[in-house]
Amino acid sequence: MPQNQSDAKGSSPDPNPKGSPSPSIDTRCVQAGYTPGDGEPRQVPIVQSTTFRYDTSEHMGQLFDLEAQGYFYTRLQNPTNDAVAAKICALEGAAAGMLTSSGQAANFFALFNICEQGSHVVSSSAVYGGTFNLLAHTMAKMGIESTFVSPDCTDEELAAAFRPNTRAVFGETIANPALAVLDIERFATAAHDHGVPLIVDNTFPTPVMCRPIEWGTDIVTHSTTKYMDGHGAAVGGAIVDSGNFDWMAHAQKFPGLTAPDESYHGIVYAEKFGQAGAFITKATSQLMRDFGSIQSPQHAFLLNLGLESLHVRMPQHFKNGLAVAEHLAQSPLVSSVRFPHLPGDPYFDLAQKYMPHGGSGVVSFELAGGRAAAEKFMAALRLASIETHVADARTCCLHPASSTHRQMNDEELAAAGISASMVRFSCGLEGTEDLIADIDQALAAI
Ligand SMILES: *Cc1c(COP(=O)(O)O)cnc(C)c1O
Repeated sequence: MPQNQSDAKGSSPDPNPKGSPSPSIDTRCVQAGYTPGDGEPRQVPIVQSTTFRYDTSEHMGQLFDLEAQGYFYTRLQNPTNDAVAAKICALEGAAAGMLTSSGQAANFFALFNICEQGSHVVSSSAVYGGTFNLLAHTMAKMGIESTFVSPDCTDEELAAAFRPNTRAVFGETIANPALAVLDIERFATAAHDHGVPLIVDNTFPTPVMCRPIEWGTDIVTHSTTKYMDGHGAAVGGAIVDSGNFDWMAHAQKFPGLTAPDESYHGIVYAEKFGQAGAFITKATSQLMRDFGSIQSPQHAFLLNLGLESLHVRMPQHFKNGLAVAEHLAQSPLVSSVRFPHLPGDPYFDLAQKYMPHGGSGVVSFELAGGRAAAEKFMAALRLASIETHVADARTCCLHPASSTHRQMNDEELAAAGISASMVRFSCGLEGTEDLIADIDQALAAI
C-alpha cells in the first residue's frame, strides 16, 4: 500500500509562509495532484475498479505488509482518490492526505486516529451541528469525552479545559452556522503547550482564503461537499496532515502511532513512515480498512472538477456575501447581520488577520419582525432556494427555526444561540445585483 503522500512531500517549506505560495494557489487548483505522462489522459482518469491484479501472491503479500507501494482494494485506496487528495495537500501545504466518504467521516477519522476509549478532546463550541453530535454524543458513547470552550474564551479558560488524557484540540476556521472565526494561532499554541495537535475544519474558507497549517494547525479536515465540490453534486470529505506534529516527542500519548500495531505485524507508524507519513498511513490502513468510509472514485473525479475552479469561485462567493451583508445591514426590516468581514462584526479583526482576501459567502441575519417575518421572507425569495445545503454555486438559504431546529420552542432556540427570526443565507455565484433585487422584493413581501 502506498503511503498516500502528496506530490508536495519533500518540497522545501514556503520561504514566506503567510504570503503567496509558489506555484500559486490558482495554479495548484488547476494542475496539482496529477501529471500525465506521454500519451496519457489529460483529465484525472476515474479508476472504476474495486480491485487490482498482481503477478504473484508474494508481491501482494508485500502490499499487505505495507512493504511495497501499490493498490489492492478500493475500500482502502484508489488512484483517482489519491490524485485528488494530493491536490488538496498541495492547496493546504500539507505532507499527506486522504479522501473520505463525507465531511462527517473526515472529522471522525481525524479524531479517532489519535483518540481511544478514555481519551479527551477540547473543542470549540462553535462547530457544525453534525460535529457537535459526533463529539458530544456518539464519541462520548465510545468513551471519548469532549469539553467545549467558547472560541472567545480567555487563555486561562482554554488552558483549564485540558486534562492529562486530552489528545486533540478541534475547531472550525469559520464556524457553520455561527460564523465565529477561530483564533488559530492561540488555539495552536494552547494545543502544543499541552503536547497535542490542533485539528481545524477548514470547510468554509477553503485553502483559497485560509491555510490553517501556515498558522500552526497540524491536521486540516474538509467537508468537500461544500465549496470544494461547489456544485451540489457529490458528498465527500478530506483529511490532510501537515507532518509538523512530533508524535515521538509525545509517544506515551499516541501509542497508536508510536507503539507496535499488532494488526500490522508490529509496525510502528511514526518510525516506518516518519512524522509526515504516520498519521495518514495509519488512518488508511486501520480506519479505512475497518470502517470503510472511502469516497467513490466517481465522486473524487467530480470533486476534482470543482477544485479546478475553486480559486475563481471563492472570490465571487465572498463578493456576493459581502455585498448582501452590507445591503441587509442598511435595511430597517433587518435587526442584525453577521458576516465576519463586515466592519463591526465581532470577528472582523480575526477575519482580517487569517483571511485578508475574504472568507466564505455565508451571511446570517435576523429579521426585526420575528419568526413570522422570517417565514414570509423565505417564501417570497425567487432566486435563492430553501435548502439544508450551504456553500453551493446556487444561492440557498435556511430558516433553522422552522427546519433543522424545528423541534425547539423559542426559549430552547435562544439557549442554542439561534433566534426564531434567524436566516442563514449562502450566497452563490449569481450576479450580485440579482441577489440584492431578490432580497429586496422578499423584504417588501413582509
Ligand atoms: C457540512 C459540514 C460538515 C459535514 O460534512 P458532510 O460532507 O455533510 O458529511 C462538517 N463540517 C462543516 C463545517 C460542514 O459545513
